[in-house]
Amino acid sequence: MAAPVVILGAGLAGLACALELGRDYVILERDDAVGGTARSNLVGGFTFDVTGHWLHLSDPEVKKLVTDLMGDELVQVARRAEVHSHGVRTPYPFQANTYGLPPTVVAECVLGYFKARELEAKGANLAPRNFEDFIRQRMGDGIARHFMIPYNTKLWTVPPSAMAHTWCGRFVPLPTPEEVVLGALTPRGAGHALGYNSSFYYPKSGGIQTLAERLGAKLAHAPRLSTSIDRIDTSTRTVNGDVRYTSLVSTLPLTELVKRVTDAPESVHTAASQLRSTSVTYWNVGFRGANGPHDAHWVYFPEPHVPFYRAGSASAALPSLAPPGHRSYYVEVAHRTGTACPVSDTQVLAGMREVGLAGAHDEPVVMERRTVPIAYVIMDDAYGPARAHILDWLASRDIVSVGRYGAWTYDSMEGAMVQGREAARRLRRGRI
Ligand SMILES: Cc1cc2nc3c(=O)[nH]c(=O)nc-3n(C[C@H](O)[C@H](O)[C@H](O)COP(=O)(O)OP(=O)(O)OC[C@H]3O[C@@H](n4cnc5c(N)ncnc54)[C@H](O)[C@@H]3O)c2cc1C
Repeated sequence: MAAPVVILGAGLAGLACALELGRDYVILERDDAVGGTARSNLVGGFTFDVTGHWLHLSDPEVKKLVTDLMGDELVQVARRAEVHSHGVRTPYPFQANTYGLPPTVVAECVLGYFKARELEAKGANLAPRNFEDFIRQRMGDGIARHFMIPYNTKLWTVPPSAMAHTWCGRFVPLPTPEEVVLGALTPRGAGHALGYNSSFYYPKSGGIQTLAERLGAKLAHAPRLSTSIDRIDTSTRTVNGDVRYTSLVSTLPLTELVKRVTDAPESVHTAASQLRSTSVTYWNVGFRGANGPHDAHWVYFPEPHVPFYRAGSASAALPSLAPPGHRSYYVEVAHRTGTACPVSDTQVLAGMREVGLAGAHDEPVVMERRTVPIAYVIMDDAYGPARAHILDWLASRDIVSVGRYGAWTYDSMEGAMVQGREAARRLRRGRI
């Protein structure tokens, strides 16, 4: 079998790439359904995504595509995100909402913020060397100590001092002085949502997988499912020995792709061995008893004694994701890819009770544990050069590697779709 373009993976990046190409492609996908990380599972009447999968739309073309695909089936939800620390719930983001925390903590955060601004105004700051410098320079030592450093250490499994800061732009909201002051003095802060995800979209039914299914149904050629990619030979331009391509678009995790390229040089393998990532082990939990009307959609837990870094309730956003009279949660723990999750089911349940997601006598009607082996790529010092070396070599062999894991980056569902679309456009222009 042969196709001008062979696309590896039918997650959102692969599907968006195929849609943009329109014809002359084949998609090969290991799973028995499309969607990749944006798939949903039905368990005991609950619909669970791979933790929270809330859709943020800012690219006009993706927004139009998604709204055309989904029609009335798409709902927009105003975010209710919170932070739990010092035994108190505050609105997200922490840096603009310290009201309600112990006064000494509020003072440390506000004074630290203004001290940082003073240093910035004096030109006393050197260029940030890492994510920790970025945090301290932009938000001050108090916000760094009480949220940014402990939370990010839990999420990324490495301290911010070991990470680059160049990815932060869109994902780390920087508060204005007004937001910091009003956020310290009043419960509603500056009165407006801060950050890129102040509202989100979601399918009315079927979980986030509905989006991938609609995208898949629009394609001229249905993806070939249950087809695992085991080897790629770039000199004969074949996948698994028998599928011939002119160009290859891969959305497999970059490290997994390199393992499968039989003729990759040593330098590419060495670069791949320098790329680090986290796994996320998550628990899908269902309880009797519906959500309260103001329940958060998700909550961040910066403190080390709470075993998870984030937990959310999909049914708080869409009650239909749980059976009537029930509510659902996802609970997330990060650990380095290749290591076992250090947290047990019992610890998760105890943690949920401690932070108020479950009552002392609440017993789950559903509790299952799953792992995303490669969930977040770690952007440390080795990251930039190693990634660039691999992507350059692949491009020289007419392979473009895109998507959150293909491009080995921190990106959203929308970002994955943009990457897939842009890869198709580059191929049409004859450029990888
Ligand atoms: C815990 C977590 C929470 C997230 N929350 C959000 C959120 O709230 N909002 C948001 O916008 N984004 C979120 N994301 C990001 C979002 O899931 C991704 O950006 C997006 O789904 C990536 O799509 P992709 O197509 O690039 O990759 P993937 O979805 O990973 O697709 C790759 C495909 O390749 C297939 N594949 C892999 N190996 C092989 C093989 N050997 N052979 C054949 N096929 C193979 C896989 O089965 C998969 O279908 C979250 C991610 C994680 C991990």
